[in-house]
Order: sequence, then C-alpha cells, then structure tokens
Amino acid sequence: MFNQYNLEEIRDRARASFIGMAIGDALGATVEFMTSSEIAAQYGTFRDIIGGGWLRLKPGQVTDDTEMALCIARAIVKNQGWSLEAVAGNFAAWLKSRPVDCGDTCRKGIRAYLLHGQLESPPNAWDAGNGAAMRLLPAALYSLPDDELLKKYVLEQARITHNNPVSDAACLCLGQLLHMALCGAEKSRLHRHVDGLVTRFPTFAFVPYRGLATGYVVDTMQTVFHWFFRGKDFEECLVGTVNQGGDADTTGAICGMLAGAYYGMESIPTRWIKKMDVKVIAEIEVMVEHLLSASPVWRPS
Ligand code: MN
Ligand code: MN
Repeated sequence: MFNQYNLEEIRDRARASFIGMAIGDALGATVEFMTSSEIAAQYGTFRDIIGGGWLRLKPGQVTDDTEMALCIARAIVKNQGWSLEAVAGNFAAWLKSRPVDCGDTCRKGIRAYLLHGQLESPPNAWDAGNGAAMRLLPAALYSLPDDELLKKYVLEQARITHNNPVSDAACLCLGQLLHMALCGAEKSRLHRHVDGLVTRFPTFAFVPYRGLATGYVVDTMQTVFHWFFRGKDFEECLVGTVNQGGDADTTGAICGMLAGAYYGMESIPTRWIKKMDVKVIAEIEVMVEHLLSASPVWRPS
C-alpha cells in the first residue's frame, strides 16, 4: 500500500510539537503575569528553564497547559478511541488531584461536569480565554490529517469548558495550523491560513503587533502569531513569545507546539530538553506514539 506521507518526518514533528508545548509551558511559567519591562529589568532577555515564578515551580515543571493536554491524550489512548466522557472524566480527576494551577473557566466547566455530567458548557460571551486552545494538541495528532475529525475533536474538547465563537475560531485555526505544519507546510502557507482567520475575525489581526499577551485568546494568538512568523528557529520563536510576559506559560505552550511541529526535534535546544521533568517527557513520547499510530495518517489508503 502506498502512503503519500513521510511518516518518519511526521513522527519527528509530532514529538517536537508535544515536547515543544511542555517546554514552552515550563519556560514561560517563570515569567507568567510579569510585564515585558519587568522581565527585561530582571533578566535582560529571559531564555532559560529555571522554575520559580508565582507558582514556585521546580525547574522543568509543567503546569495546567501540559497537564490538561495529557488528560486528553490519556483519555484517547486508554479508551482506544475518542470519548468525550473519558476526556471530561480525566479533567475531573485532575482537578480533584489539586493541580498546581487551573484557570477559572476551566474550573467552572469541570465543576459543571462533576455536578451535572455536563459535557458542553452553555454559550458564554466572556469565556474567550485561551484554556481550550492550550490543550488541543492531542486532538490534532489523533485526527491527522483528517480535517473533519480535527474539527469534531477540537471543538468537543473545547466546549467542555469554553463555548465561545472567538475561542472556537482560535482552536480550529490552531488545530489546522498544526496539521499543516506536521505535514511539512511552509510558513508562507501557514501565514495565508492565519490571514483567512483574520478575514473572518478581524480581531485576530496581529500586524502591527499590539504587544498584549493576556489570557484572552485573541491576545494570546496575536502574540503566538507575531513571534512564530518572525522567529527563525524554535528558540527564537519561544524566547520572543515568553518575553512578552502576561500569560507566558500558555503563549509559550501554544507557540512551542506550533514551532515544534514546524521545525522538528533537531531545532529544540538540548539545554531545554535536559531541564525538563523526565517523567513528563517519557509520558509524552509514549502518548505521541499511540496517538499517531491510531490516527488516519498511519493507515495507508
Ligand atoms: Mn499554566
Ligand atoms: Mn497560563
């Protein structure tokens, strides 16, 4: 059977994407909620994984961004398929385990699941935080390269906690950018895809960049787009992103997954990988293998 995809290359990009997300989370968490000028005053350019921050993390420790993504990955792998119940169940078990951090909208949605079995939050104009986008990578890996499956998985997991058109648009665009980058698309192609998002939702316009990096998904995605398209390698993309401060672990996680998918493993600085929690990296490796081997791209057509 013939498969048009370079599976070894996709595997490398997928590993880099998931590990890149965890690195962006661990790197950015140190400067989360700082302003860019506070970061500059304290560090010059902040570029090392050292822990600390408002959550007093160990160096290489990840936060809710990576943990919620792992909840989705484990649900797919353990259930041997997509089950929204399994995803919500893992979120609930995670929340009960007293995680180091959890966003307000995520907490509200998970509580509604715990109390009422609710799998889809009601539409809410204010639930446009970045919490649904930050964790969607496993849905993108498991659906690769099927756009219809991607939309289903990405939106279903999102709406457990976030039901908002701006969050939905950001999640879909990010998921599709990941699919394209994993399959080897050039940056010009990715940029055109973001231009399409901006045409439909002008609020995402990131040129000129306003420099806002809050947890509002519009600010988050503008920051990721600005630094991803301007950076020349994985490190430049991530360092630029987290030095904006604000929700730096989440902008870092999202930029890390995108830049990892685009540049692949060889672009990720060894000094960053060495600092990461070894158990987290080991689980990520296992999850990526399972998600990809169960995805449509691995089944020759
Ligand atoms: Mn976080
Ligand atoms: Mn965050």
